[in-house]
Amino acid sequence: MARRKKIYEGKAKILYEGPEPGTIVQYFKDDATAFNAEKRATIDGKGVLNNRLSEFFMTGLNGIGVPTHFIKRLNMREQLVRAVEIIPIEIVVRNTAAGSISKRLGIPEGTALPRPIVEFYYKDDDLGDPIVSEEHIIAFQWASQQDLDDMVALALRVNDFMSGVMLSVGIKLVDFKIEVGRVFEGDYQRLIVADEISPDSCRLWDIKTGQKLDKDVFRRDLGNLADAYTEVAQRLGVLPKNATPMTKPTLIN
Ligand code: C5P
Repeated sequence: MARRKKIYEGKAKILYEGPEPGTIVQYFKDDATAFNAEKRATIDGKGVLNNRLSEFFMTGLNGIGVPTHFIKRLNMREQLVRAVEIIPIEIVVRNTAAGSISKRLGIPEGTALPRPIVEFYYKDDDLGDPIVSEEHIIAFQWASQQDLDDMVALALRVNDFMSGVMLSVGIKLVDFKIEVGRVFEGDYQRLIVADEISPDSCRLWDIKTGQKLDKDVFRRDLGNLADAYTEVAQRLGVLPKNATPMTKPTLIN
């Protein structure tokens, strides 16, 4: 039996070398962290749910011509994805004020924004992922102007798709974060959506009750995170309605 090569271990995922060149196996852990890993917990079933939900969103995006790294799901916790060169910028799109924009600018949570607002954060745990401007990104060569234009276009298309999908199941897409990576095809490079899209990286509020169905449940101690993610998965038809929150796989024998 050969040991596979671990490429990277992050807070919520592990990346292993994939079976073909240019592929990676993305493993979803049950670990939850918040506030730059100051708050940590293991939440049984979170990795399984995020694997399924990220598959659902990425497959939908691929289907409407928004390129993503997703190739196929391999098992409960793993998916095969294209290897990309990650751009060290987190792109956040906001439709409704919440979280850091409310704190930073004093805009009450829940205020509808007049248009989607796109923000950039520099991926650096030691610095606490600071917000940066396009000027910073260009000056420090984290991405080119062409990359930036492509990043904004991708993020807004993801926003349109995700907002519509969530609305159809009675959920408001408040905001979300994506990461993008470069792939090289002959003389060309293009950007594709990478990492994950899941309730870990979105804010999702029930339209009628305002109930939070995302990682804020963990950040703000609002209840059981796996229950909230299971609710999202059930509404989207990713899990059957009678499914109980997924926990650790039980070994038979
Ligand atoms: O904290 P803030 O309000 O800036 O987060 C905006 C959105 O980006 C939220 O949906 C949050 O879950 C997501 N985010 C993330 N990873 C980070 C920072 C924010 O997924 N490192």
